[in-house]
Amino acid sequence: MIQLIRGFKDILPGEVELWQHIEKTARSLLESFGFKEIRIPILEHAELFARSIGEDTDIVEKEMYTFPDRKGDLITLRPEATASVVRSYIQHKLYAKDPVRKLYSIGPMFRRERPQKGRYRQFYQINAEVFGIDSPFIDAQLIFLLAVFFKKLSATEVKAHINSLGCQICRPEFKEALSVFLLAAKEELCSDCRRRRERNPLRVLDCKVPSCRLAMADAPSILDHLCPECSRHFEAVKHALEKFKVSFVVDKRLVRGLDYYTRTTFEIQTGSLGAQNAVAGGGRYDSLVKALGGPDQPAVGFAIGLDRFVEMTDLKAKDFAQNPDIFIAALGEKSMSMAFDWACAFGLEGIIAELDFAGKSLKSQMKRADRLGAKHVLIVGEKELEEKAVIMRNMTTKEQLSVPLDNLIKAVKDKIS
Ligand code: AMP
Repeated sequence: MIQLIRGFKDILPGEVELWQHIEKTARSLLESFGFKEIRIPILEHAELFARSIGEDTDIVEKEMYTFPDRKGDLITLRPEATASVVRSYIQHKLYAKDPVRKLYSIGPMFRRERPQKGRYRQFYQINAEVFGIDSPFIDAQLIFLLAVFFKKLSATEVKAHINSLGCQICRPEFKEALSVFLLAAKEELCSDCRRRRERNPLRVLDCKVPSCRLAMADAPSILDHLCPECSRHFEAVKHALEKFKVSFVVDKRLVRGLDYYTRTTFEIQTGSLGAQNAVAGGGRYDSLVKALGGPDQPAVGFAIGLDRFVEMTDLKAKDFAQNPDIFIAALGEKSMSMAFDWACAFGLEGIIAELDFAGKSLKSQMKRADRLGAKHVLIVGEKELEEKAVIMRNMTTKEQLSVPLDNLIKAVKDKIS
């Protein structure tokens, strides 16, 4: 039998209802805050990600699904959404009428990481991006939105971590100080970090290997190197978060794995998922739009990892199960034909109705109704047709009543609502 690819998964009925509920809540919350949906392709030119995420990042270096298409063009299954949304903002001149755009998207991402709990090769994200506003209020509002989202969906074991990565003015100076420190600590670093030291020194700060953590305990902090503008911006973000009553910790190690971030970066972390502790992450990327050939517009955004969210929320899929409202147990051909008409009519009214097409006994149909978790059963056989009324049984209370065939759909609808 052909099995699915390692690191990929099916989200089955019985699980998917929770995903739908989370997505619905996200849409409604984001739209209430003025975000509009954007749908971007799953395949893009490989170059888009290399230029935005950065050549020396783990994602681009070793995790992307990149392959030549039939004409030899290198294309990539998107590892994240921001690069595509920025490309779209530029390509369609979404800034022309008004540079301020708030966009969200929901969909799958692909990274060839080592699969483990909370880490998949196809995973799902809810992304939100705001273009054209450099005010720290927006950074704080995005973190506030995340806090509201997590609370609404009973994901309470979380903490917002925030940091600032400075800008093109102050970051080089910090990188320099960090490089000097890393050179002295070289021997204590893991092999990955020895490599990162020269190409992407910031990443050494968030390495999870214990010896690196120890070696980095006294590393210089970016927060001591921020220029006055970045410092003011970061102070304003913190102040706004306090005003919004969002609890947070300042985490000077939070650098995130993508090169395009500037100033505010943040993660929503949880203790309940083991090593994969980030459920959402984001930050500012003020130079990316320009770097990809667009106007000089600031931007900030976040991504929530749906797979991890589903694993850590207290909500349970079974609470969102959509069991049939009605099971029609029909006996005999004539009843079956009427039952089929009713099932269609119920469907049109938004009432989920199931029936058995196999002509089984009443007992076996009742058993199936039970298995499906139907809330009510309508029983119709020759006797009921003669008497022009069906029996309606409440499967929880076991109460039975007679419902006239005349205007059946409306009568049943009134009874179950
Ligand atoms: P990133 O795009 O790396 O900033 O990640 C944003 C969020 O996506 C993370 O906080 C995770 O929740 C989720 N995520 C990233 N990579 C994976 C993965 N391989 N499997 C599952 N979720 C992931």
